Amino acid sequence: MPDELIRAVAADGLIRITAVSTRELTEKARRMHKTLPVATAALGRALAAASILGSSIKEEKGSLTFQINGGGPLGTVMAVSDNAGNVRGYVAEPYVDLPLRSDGKLDVGTAVGKEGRMTIVRDLGFGEPYVGSVRLVSGEIAEDVATYLSESEQIRSACGLGVLIDTDQSVRAAGGYIIDLLPDAPDEIIDDLENAIAAVGPVTGVLDGGNAEDLIKMLLTGFAPRILENRVIEYRCNCSWERVRGVLASLSNDDLKEIEESGEFTEIRCHFCDAVYRFSPDEIKLIVKEAKK
Ligand SMILES: [Zn+2]
Repeated sequence: MPDELIRAVAADGLIRITAVSTRELTEKARRMHKTLPVATAALGRALAAASILGSSIKEEKGSLTFQINGGGPLGTVMAVSDNAGNVRGYVAEPYVDLPLRSDGKLDVGTAVGKEGRMTIVRDLGFGEPYVGSVRLVSGEIAEDVATYLSESEQIRSACGLGVLIDTDQSVRAAGGYIIDLLPDAPDEIIDDLENAIAAVGPVTGVLDGGNAEDLIKMLLTGFAPRILENRVIEYRCNCSWERVRGVLASLSNDDLKEIEESGEFTEIRCHFCDAVYRFSPDEIKLIVKEAKK
């Protein structure tokens, strides 16, 4: 079953929801980066959040960068989405292993840490990118996203994210949702919605065997949800030899000179997909020559 992103409205437009199922792309990330379970869970949650937030950008060349630096053993957790919700990401320390919490769940909050910030960069593909940042509340990511939306963007929202790891460490279910409430939503709707969210519980309970549409139906039952859009999403990296060459060319003259003088093949690895790009000494010479112009 391919991963999907679904956007819907409910309660006559007072509630907006975007939900994703992301098992395939999270499993792809796990295999690519060889993450252990707690890192898979943190990265998977970040990828789902980035996909939902990124898909709200209308500009075709727009992208969203979702970054968490919580001071925990995982280091930076990074996810980038295009405007269609296709994502890529990595975690600085993929091999972190922590004991389970007392309730038997993966301890994502401790692995991420909460002594730091969540930063979201919206790049519309032109002009200065919009950067927002909040202090982390729990490091569990979903709660931090909801805090970000209310503090940084003044949007009342609820967020649920989850990754269920199987006994062989593969991803069994993954995904999440963000619900936005319009400012004029009455208190009764908010109460009913809070009750519905509590009744549904962890998103992986629905996504294990279900999909993003089931998640919307279960969360918004009683609010007459109407689906606006349903699209397939995937793990997608946009790196290329030309792009990496461009990054090399943007290095300072001193750095380039140092690479040139080493006279060796230069290998650059993409953080997001582990692709390796090789540049011969002759190619480096050419880059240095062009840079001097
Ligand atoms: Zn790449």
